[in-house]
Amino acid sequence: MGEYNNQHYQLDQTIIEKRMQTKCFAKRIQYYSEVDSTNRIAKELGKVPGNHGVLVLAEQQNAGRGRLGRNWNSPSGNGIWMTLVLQPNLHPGHASMLTIVAALAVNNAIRNITGLDSFIKWPNDIVVNGKKVCGILTEMNTINEKLEYAIIGIGVNVNQDKFPEELKDTATSILLEGKRSIDRIELIADIMKHFEFYYDVFLKTENLIKLKDLYNENLVNLNRQVRILEKDMEYAGIALGINETGVLLVKTVETVEDGEITIIKGVVSGEVSVRGIYGYV
Ligand code: ADP
Repeated sequence: MGEYNNQHYQLDQTIIEKRMQTKCFAKRIQYYSEVDSTNRIAKELGKVPGNHGVLVLAEQQNAGRGRLGRNWNSPSGNGIWMTLVLQPNLHPGHASMLTIVAALAVNNAIRNITGLDSFIKWPNDIVVNGKKVCGILTEMNTINEKLEYAIIGIGVNVNQDKFPEELKDTATSILLEGKRSIDRIELIADIMKHFEFYYDVFLKTENLIKLKDLYNENLVNLNRQVRILEKDMEYAGIALGINETGVLLVKTVETVEDGEITIIKGVVSGEVSVRGIYGYV
């Protein structure tokens, strides 16, 4: 698009490593110009001890994935397609909260670097003006009930000036919303800085007690009507925010024998999707 200063900055492994302001996260980067999926590579790295903090970064993914086996569109040149390898001493049942920690970090970094009013869409997306600019996919493996690795895939639409037809209504980029292209390396470095900070806070308690208020302040769904789509059923309610385990609390009305009662349901991420009443948010 001619009206934008759509200048692309090459992703360069050594330049990025030098620009990290972290203790451990992304101090080592494995860069690929083209890859099937950064999560796939990160899983291989996760099996090898000593790879905690390694960041897999690709210019293009040919088989990028979203949750529930969905596809993630990851064209060359304009996005941030990356996966962080973590090997923490963490109860496996607590690892899914890393998605919440990552979402908080990405949202803060986007706000910080671009000045855009981005929000978190529970549990794993970042939206600007009601459309998705970032998706996060956490995957993990356990051995003998111990966490072997958790990998956090982060896809950010940065400098794309258009999207395929099927994504037009729900996807957007930082360029399209902010009307200027940004340096992807600066954003990667800021995401990693925030992620490492919040991760350290999270690890102290292995819950979100210290982070949930901040998360809820940035939650696009807060106090809004949402539809919860489960495998075989759907219900509506008002999103009240997450609790200290990352569960989304939803106030909903249930019909019982002699009328209706209001209850608060805890929605666990994984098999569900959240939508607005009229659309995506
Ligand atoms: P949901 O928001 O439905 O829970 P996921 O988190 O599983 O979805 O993300 C996968 C979905 O995101 C895909 O089904 C597709 O609709 C959408 N998508 C794919 N690529 C992109 C992209 N680059 N930007 C925004 N949305 C995308």
